[in-house]
Amino acid sequence: MTPNIARVALPVPLDKLFDYLIKPGQSPVIGGRVKVPFGPKQLIGIVISLTDKSDFPLGQLKAVNTVLDSEPLWHPPLFGLLSWASSYYQYPLGDTLANAMPTLLRKGREAAPSSLKMWQITEAGRDQPLAALNRAPRQAQVLNTLRHGKSSHESLLAEEVSSAILKTLSDKGWIESLEERPGSREWQPDFAVTEEKPKLNDEQALAVATVNANPAFGCYLLEGVTGSGKTEVYLNLLEPVLAAGKQALILVPEIGLTPQTINRFRRRFNVPLETVHSGLNDTKRLSSWLAGRDNQAGIIIGTRSALFTPFENLGIIIVDEEHDASYKQQDSLRYHARDLAVMRANRENIPVILGSATPALESLHNAKTGKYHHLTLTRRAGNAQQARHGVLDVKGLYLEAGLSAPLIARMRKHLEAGNQVMLFLNRRGFSPAVICHECGWLAECKRCDAYYTFHQQSGELRCHHCATQRPMMPQCGNCGSTQLNAVGVGTEQLEQQLATLFPEYKTVRIDRDSTRRKGSLESYLEAIKNNEYQILIGTQMLAKGHHFPDVTLVSLIDVDSALFSNDFRASERLAQLFIQVAGRAGRASKPGEVILQTHHPEHALLQALLHKGYDQFTVSALDERRQAFLPPYTYLTLFRAEANESEHVEQFLQQVRGIFESSPLCCQETPVMGPNPAPLSRRAGRYRWQLLLQTPDRKTLQQMLTIAKPAIQLLPLARKVRWSIDVEPQDL
Ligand code: ADP
Ligand code: ZN
Ligand code: ZN
Repeated sequence: MTPNIARVALPVPLDKLFDYLIKPGQSPVIGGRVKVPFGPKQLIGIVISLTDKSDFPLGQLKAVNTVLDSEPLWHPPLFGLLSWASSYYQYPLGDTLANAMPTLLRKGREAAPSSLKMWQITEAGRDQPLAALNRAPRQAQVLNTLRHGKSSHESLLAEEVSSAILKTLSDKGWIESLEERPGSREWQPDFAVTEEKPKLNDEQALAVATVNANPAFGCYLLEGVTGSGKTEVYLNLLEPVLAAGKQALILVPEIGLTPQTINRFRRRFNVPLETVHSGLNDTKRLSSWLAGRDNQAGIIIGTRSALFTPFENLGIIIVDEEHDASYKQQDSLRYHARDLAVMRANRENIPVILGSATPALESLHNAKTGKYHHLTLTRRAGNAQQARHGVLDVKGLYLEAGLSAPLIARMRKHLEAGNQVMLFLNRRGFSPAVICHECGWLAECKRCDAYYTFHQQSGELRCHHCATQRPMMPQCGNCGSTQLNAVGVGTEQLEQQLATLFPEYKTVRIDRDSTRRKGSLESYLEAIKNNEYQILIGTQMLAKGHHFPDVTLVSLIDVDSALFSNDFRASERLAQLFIQVAGRAGRASKPGEVILQTHHPEHALLQALLHKGYDQFTVSALDERRQAFLPPYTYLTLFRAEANESEHVEQFLQQVRGIFESSPLCCQETPVMGPNPAPLSRRAGRYRWQLLLQTPDRKTLQQMLTIAKPAIQLLPLARKVRWSIDVEPQDL
């Protein structure tokens, strides 16, 4: 058969493929892009299969407009992974593939490095005696250069040749221009280890040997406290991979916080290294993507979406800080990059290393059940000491912007010794609410079931759940009183209070508000390292990957909000934050100290964490999860629906529930919970409800969703509400 029909996945929210006729002379390829008519528009989609049969009469099919690629964009393991992700995360294939492409490819740009304007000499130019040009030395210079070979327009301009001279020469017919792609350069022949390596300790050597013993697929959980030498293990694992000419992919939670790590890879090997993250512009993003695909980069370090970079010859994947919540995408294709990294390594048949000082409970569970190999590093390199830590019972104590007097006294002690102090508070803004002192009225977002956060610096009330913001009102919206008070403490208020408490020290605040400008995070981090600030305030953001050797006191100033959260993962996150900061406080010559402020010092999880460490904490936490039928012992799927009409949303989810309950796989082992109002029951004017499906394993989850989804899509209300499926949600 000669296939005359291309079945195409288009970036539209529909779970189906579209057939187009292939015109004579067109040769689309599976996995390559085509431009096709779709309604009044032209869309770019990916060819999924070539066939000669369609469910539609041939006469009704439209034809492919343009074939954009003569080769697939992805090689089979990655293409297969993307199709798998589309079905596992219940997201349309066309949208999934579009998600995995750099924007410029989505817009139809050629999947090749852009070509450069080059100049070359002509026969006439070669015959021209240079001596005759002694009154035009620049022209002579150009001819002389080009006699030795082609040169790019850019590099000639860099040699101070003007465009006018090039034009004169080309008008004379002595030189001519052409468009050419930059030649590809192989990095492999130059591969070298470019610095002295430390000798591995026994645990590191064992970890490296275990992974190297089997070059095929294997998943390794590398658990080691901060400073125990995980990065050194990564470097040692990369060496034989790169030496064999293969490439490495390293995922990190946030690129701005890892410049030291990136530099260590650059220093160790002379291979081209590319970074991939959301801060790149479209051109740079495409060029990194191509560098992976064409093996022009030996190492790619990037955030979540870097997982979708194609590689000509991938040899290893490393997921650093594997427990980090930022690996889960929270909208569109709701994938977990760590889980997909393991799947990808499996399909590519290469090792994958998940590194963390505080592994996710899911990963520990997989290690315990033998799915992952568990490698541990227990010693801190050098002779750094473990930080001292303790809880500070703040019951009944007066709090100044959240700070108790004993904490303030400890801060003073550390600051006077010339050290830095770091305070964590996971709440940005000045105060999370504003209340009227006369009548108790609270300033509430009209579009959400939430209070406004007061931002004093900008003089605004902002809703952190929708885009609404308004100037701070002078008077109460209910009684007109001018006595409006801030309730609760955010990072902005803490910053202000510290300026009053410690006028002789400089304070810096690191949160999403203060680091909005590109590059500002990096420059703050640099300034902190140079001791330009002595007091550091931050949200979770500051905890990730920082290495500030002069920070000797760290305090989590509000532990209770995590201990008593509705989210079953909150205590795990608190434990991870605590271990991360404790592991980084101080150094050999300056012992660190960590203080947790709480009203509940007796809380069992806190006690386990403080006195027995992360391991014991995870044993108790896993036990709790098992008894409560929560992940990793079950698999959850969250259905969210929202609409302007509350009844529609609830009714829709009731019907979804009905569909599950009529499934042959229901219900003893697969309870359906809800519908319930979502934690934020109204956002941006829409009512939000949710339904939770619990299944004993991934297979049942997939079977139930695969059966139910088409039925859900047929519900008339499915068109009236906005709904989504979050498979294995991170936030409930
Ligand atoms: P982690 O990634 O677990 O935080 P690193 O690999 O960054 O740990 O190691 C912490 C510090 O110890 C680094 O300065 C590193 O160069 C050093 N280091 C790691 N392993 C060794 C070793 N085997 N011998 C000497 N120094 C080491
Ligand atoms: Zn709002
Ligand atoms: Zn009032």
